[in-house]
Amino acid sequence: MNHQQSEALFSAAKNVIPGGVNSPVRAFKSVGINPIFIEKAAGSKIYDADGNEYIDYVGSWGPMIMGHCHPKVVEAIQKTAASGASFGAPTARETQLAEMVSEAYPNIEKVRMVSSGTEATMSAIRLARGYTGRDKILKFDGCYHGHADSLLVKAGSGLATFGVPTSPGVPADFAKYTLTATYNDLDEVKQMVAANDKEIACIILEPIAGNMGCVPPVPGFLEGLRELCTQEGIVLIVDEVMTGFRVAFGGAQERFNVRGDLVCLGKIIGGGLPVGAFGGKKEIMDSLSPEGGVYQAGTLSGNPLAMSAGIATLNILKEEGFYQQLEEKSAYLEKGLLQVAGNSSVATCWQRVGAMFCTYFQQGPVNSFADALNSDTETFSKFFRNMLDNGINLAPSQFEAGFMSVAHSQEDLDKTIEAAEKSFAAL
Ligand code: PMP
Repeated sequence: MNHQQSEALFSAAKNVIPGGVNSPVRAFKSVGINPIFIEKAAGSKIYDADGNEYIDYVGSWGPMIMGHCHPKVVEAIQKTAASGASFGAPTARETQLAEMVSEAYPNIEKVRMVSSGTEATMSAIRLARGYTGRDKILKFDGCYHGHADSLLVKAGSGLATFGVPTSPGVPADFAKYTLTATYNDLDEVKQMVAANDKEIACIILEPIAGNMGCVPPVPGFLEGLRELCTQEGIVLIVDEVMTGFRVAFGGAQERFNVRGDLVCLGKIIGGGLPVGAFGGKKEIMDSLSPEGGVYQAGTLSGNPLAMSAGIATLNILKEEGFYQQLEEKSAYLEKGLLQVAGNSSVATCWQRVGAMFCTYFQQGPVNSFADALNSDTETFSKFFRNMLDNGINLAPSQFEAGFMSVAHSQEDLDKTIEAAEKSFAAL
């Protein structure tokens, strides 16, 4: 496959953009090749600057659950653009999208729109701190919630060790308020909560961890966190930026029947435009400015184009049979991939919840970040490159989820399975 144009574009980009990219994982660093530059997309396919076509399982990292350029979303954006891209004033569309979100997530009584997932989690944490009057937060190792300072922290050794920053530029003084626990380990969380009595404002988690591949919660984990938070007056923040409207219309909370006090959303609710949202109990949300004292704002928040794209998207997701269709496609791919992986001598472990999935290059099962790190990332990289050569675009990291869309046709799925068979054989 020829990548001459992509190579030239990458060289030019590196002169003016750090690392040539506006978000690090796009640089393909962990898979040993330079990135492909995308020219356009349609349905299940994306096309690079050299005219190569790929079946796409990245879907802009989640938003494209209906495939790229769905005609109704394109029409909504075009129509709205013709009447003004941004006013910085309230519009009826914001209320409409808020009502739709609230209908899908009954625990979201009030919701505020922002422009990214990072803003959603950052704001939800500030709100939880303001509401409880406590400073510490608890997150899980391997869960990603965007790049706000207090969230760029991973676990130090030992149970009650305070966080250390994962990135230069995050003062240790900020990071010390972030406690980090092992995903799926409820006992550890209980010990940390006991050791930091009445000091923890919130526990934030991905209800299915998609930033270490695809790690579902073990039975009882979410329920246990819910109970603990209720008992201890801790705000439970369920970060559904990735899982919201993906694993069910009502997200992981509908699927597992456990509800957070606050919920973060993003990706799908913007239909591909920059949107995030955070919402939850009225009582907590009313602590936000201008009702309450917790400040949060945004020039482009509730942007008309983004609201229109979100409304058009959710209207389609609401259609009878949408998630059934998505499940059938995902299950078909799963069956085919398990078969070709089983025929190969390479150790793999497939994990899937609805339309998000991951193939770990190890025996598995993977229940935590430490488990995920046992994967053979060298072999993953080779597999990734083989798949790309065979016209399949996967996320360029072992620790990212793959995403199915309803635009993936039977032919796409069969081609993907065939490409996987070749890619395994060439390892
Ligand atoms: N939370 C989760 C669970 C995410 O997966 C992401 C992004 N992948 C974010 C938050 C941050 O969202 P954004 O990149 O839009 O800032």
